[in-house]
Amino acid sequence: MLPSRLFNALLLSLLASTSLAQTAPGAPFTGLKAEMASSIEAKAKMTQEIIDTLFSFSELGFQEFETQRYLTELLAANDFDIELGVSNIPSSWWASWGSGEPVIALGSDVDGIPRASQMPGVAYRQPMIEGAPGHGEGHNSGQAVNIVAALAVKEIMGRENLPGTIVLWPGIAEELLATKAWYARDGLFDSVDAVLFTHVSNNMNVSWGDARGTGLVSVEYLFDGVAAHGAGDPWKGRSALDAVEIMNVGWNFRREHLHPLQRSHYVISNGGDQPNVVPSFASVWYFIREITAENIMENFATLQRVAEGAAMMTDTTVSRKIVGAAWPRHFNRPIALAMNENIKAVGLPTWSEDDQRFAKALQTLMGSDNPQGLATDLSGIAEPLETPVSGGSDDIGDISWNVPTVTLRYPANVSGLQGHHWSSAMAMATPIAHKGATAGAKVVAATMLDLIQDPSLVSDAQTYFDDVQTAEVQYEPFIGPDDEPAIEKNAEIMAQFKPRLEELYYDASRFDTYLDQLGIEYPQLEPNLIQRNQ
Ligand SMILES: [Zn+2]
Repeated sequence: MLPSRLFNALLLSLLASTSLAQTAPGAPFTGLKAEMASSIEAKAKMTQEIIDTLFSFSELGFQEFETQRYLTELLAANDFDIELGVSNIPSSWWASWGSGEPVIALGSDVDGIPRASQMPGVAYRQPMIEGAPGHGEGHNSGQAVNIVAALAVKEIMGRENLPGTIVLWPGIAEELLATKAWYARDGLFDSVDAVLFTHVSNNMNVSWGDARGTGLVSVEYLFDGVAAHGAGDPWKGRSALDAVEIMNVGWNFRREHLHPLQRSHYVISNGGDQPNVVPSFASVWYFIREITAENIMENFATLQRVAEGAAMMTDTTVSRKIVGAAWPRHFNRPIALAMNENIKAVGLPTWSEDDQRFAKALQTLMGSDNPQGLATDLSGIAEPLETPVSGGSDDIGDISWNVPTVTLRYPANVSGLQGHHWSSAMAMATPIAHKGATAGAKVVAATMLDLIQDPSLVSDAQTYFDDVQTAEVQYEPFIGPDDEPAIEKNAEIMAQFKPRLEELYYDASRFDTYLDQLGIEYPQLEPNLIQRNQ
């Protein structure tokens, strides 16, 4: 055994030479990274099985119990310590392996989209189960990226005796933006040095600084009134539904005077029981989005006054429940730059003729006159925007204000499809998703090796976090110590569909791929009768 100082010196000289090699765009991996990349190629079957299995579970936020069971059994079989139900969220989990620093935490979302059930590998609308949830956001692929990366790095760490701890965790109920602020509040990331988060995309890139998009507060307003006979003595009633409608009218008038970068939307989550009973209870659920935390809180305060005004006008009472929260995202510059070198070394997958035909057919289906197919050029690192751009949110924002964090967007889906929609599920259990996840896993694993082998990257990341990111902006969670996660959400929908979904779960012991199990000739461009294999 080498004396540790000599070993470190050797390691540092090795590092110096590898990091020089990697500054050249597209230079292929050498040394441990090359070994890691071959190991991830060799795990392509595992990647495909994880992606196809999670696709077939089609679970909505807070109800990801099959996903939890499957992934934690896989991780436990690979020597990870598992904790279930972290942050009082029953479908959550926390898996860790190794010891010492750095502590690297890999996260990715796992939940699906309501009514997005869709047969994969076919270029036309065909729900697997009418009205059922599906992976119309591609969240079935990110844990495959992270787990395969973690296993490849773990093999190398074990053999080379490299110190460090690998953590894997799921974004539960990301579509409700409803757990990561709770994880952060409960201190899960207090001893973590870096978070590598992964999200499906149609190219491969990373960003640093303030990200495109918004943060939000997701809040449900609950109105209580007085029931009465709708025809007999309605003057005795006080309608909670009236309060909901007046609140919505008030907010919609106020919209004109909000900054154009805001986004807000609502659904009436309870509109009463039946017309001849004056509704004594009604509720409305709002998302209030803006690009800065300060403006989110300002608009939330306005919404609160509108709710109270609606209650006064109807002689009802109002209370509220926070359902979700997400700070606007800010990503770490040193880790993003290191990851970008790894993205250039890995490049985009080699797409087959079939993959391109399928992608173009989906783009045509979604209205493109000039379908471009799958990306063949890297889009490049995303620098901070000169002027902010509005849009969606991701509760990784809260974690990004607690620990140096980046998001790798990996190329497992097709561009030009509709988000949160069945079209975005069509490629998510096909070779496009499998190859894209394999490419993403190599980038995650290479960046883990950077963090493990180069202590200065970990300290540079922390310095950026302390001296740049949080120098002027102080993180104050939108949730308080008593706000509980909304774990009851989606329970009824999943109870309704689960028995039928179970019949369609992917059986990897009998079928090579999920497409094989479903009897789909990929790419199936024209509708014809699908004969399911039995
Ligand atoms: Zn997502």
